[in-house]
Amino acid sequence: MESIELKENRELKENRELKAGIEEVNPYESAKKQIDKAAGYLPEIIPEIIEKIKKPHRELTVNFPVRMDDGRFRLFTGYRVQHSMVAGPAKGGIRYHPNVTLDEIRALAIWMTMKCAVVNLPYGGAKGGVVCNPREMSQRELEALTRRFTYEICSVIGPDMDIPAPDVNTNPQTMAWIMDTYSMLKGYPVPGVVTGKPICIGGCRGRTEATGRGVAIISGEALKYENMPIKGTTVAVQGFGKVGSHTARILNEMGCKVVGISDISGGTFNPNGIDVPKLIAHVSKSEERIIAGFDGGKFVEGSNHGNEELLEMDVDLLVPAAMENQITKENAHNIGAKVLVEAANGPTTPEASEILNKNDVFLIPDILANAGGVVVSYFEWVQNVQRYYWTEEEVNKKQKSIMVKSFADVLNTAKEYGVDMRTAAYILAIRKEAEAIQTRMIWP
Ligand code: NAD
Repeated sequence: MESIELKENRELKENRELKAGIEEVNPYESAKKQIDKAAGYLPEIIPEIIEKIKKPHRELTVNFPVRMDDGRFRLFTGYRVQHSMVAGPAKGGIRYHPNVTLDEIRALAIWMTMKCAVVNLPYGGAKGGVVCNPREMSQRELEALTRRFTYEICSVIGPDMDIPAPDVNTNPQTMAWIMDTYSMLKGYPVPGVVTGKPICIGGCRGRTEATGRGVAIISGEALKYENMPIKGTTVAVQGFGKVGSHTARILNEMGCKVVGISDISGGTFNPNGIDVPKLIAHVSKSEERIIAGFDGGKFVEGSNHGNEELLEMDVDLLVPAAMENQITKENAHNIGAKVLVEAANGPTTPEASEILNKNDVFLIPDILANAGGVVVSYFEWVQNVQRYYWTEEEVNKKQKSIMVKSFADVLNTAKEYGVDMRTAAYILAIRKEAEAIQTRMIWP
């Protein structure tokens, strides 16, 4: 049997391999640069408030043991960062990934505050993560890890304080374990402690596909603005998880032709259009939930090679829906897409964004493009608090009107200040956050 030490060495090596070829950019530094750039257009906001917006409000690091299937225990490190609780409770996902760092979680928490402000939700931002490789853990080990992590952070989460949700490698089942653990500790059911739960314990209809649906709505608005017909638009999607798969499926249903899709295992390419429902069925049947082995396109193996080819495809619309730092100054010049909609958080580095702007790529930033998930999470929380549940049609209709209005708000701000869409989204968000900080003032 593999010793814990050998297993950890192997995981470290795999992490290094995963990162190979990807420019090392600290996402927290990227987030601060994005804030500074937008703040340059807002001289009316005092520098102290900008400094406050660049720093998370509260950070919790926990090191905790989990009993593994071989009977031994392993120590895991987890984080919960609450960037802001100024406009309301903090809100943000929990990710399980071997490359999780405190700085990554800080960046993701900042982006959540910005995102909630762009789409006008009464929330601040938070994020959480555990350093682990879920691809190598059993369901029982994942359940034990989730329950113990929930216990470790239970004093800082809750429906009025901080509400987690799914992110990379976590899902409705993970949320159910968190909800159950938190409820057991309280002694009564608390469905509003997390969103993205299964429907039977207070989940919201339409939440599973909400982020992808939002990305598709925003893509439709961007194409319309660029006078590009949706029908026949060629699309490449990087990442085929909760966000990427629904984005590809809904864009396909809208009439787009999805010609490239990649994930951790490689990329599949078909100039005649990939049969997206068939690929979804293939992935859900595969043990590792990957696209490798799909026979509906030419397959290029490997997380580096398949993804490199995908990002540089000559398509109308590119949707990165995997991880941060995928489009860097190294490959930004080779991006062939006319429109880029960031479904993932932080897929484009600040330097790469400048290159894309110069090359006239219409870039829709993550804090607008993927906000559909937190919008429907907000609906879920509202329903939990009110104990009154909506139909899927109501959810989709309300989500669409928020997404369309937010796109228009960001576009109008971009025109007003003469800036790109990312800077415009940050200008909007920083103005709202600063106004809330100034209105509440400092206690005591
Ligand atoms: P997920 O775990 O369901 O899927 C991630 C996908 O990315 C998988 O297909 C995986 O194989 C692929 N992937 C991982 N590393 C890769 C690499 N190096 N190259 C290519 N593909 C790789 O995660 P998700 O929930 O779909 O999240 C994807 C992105 O969207 C993340 O940036 C996340 O923060 C963001 N996001 C998620 C939500 C949500 O509701 N889940 C909401 C907003 C933003």
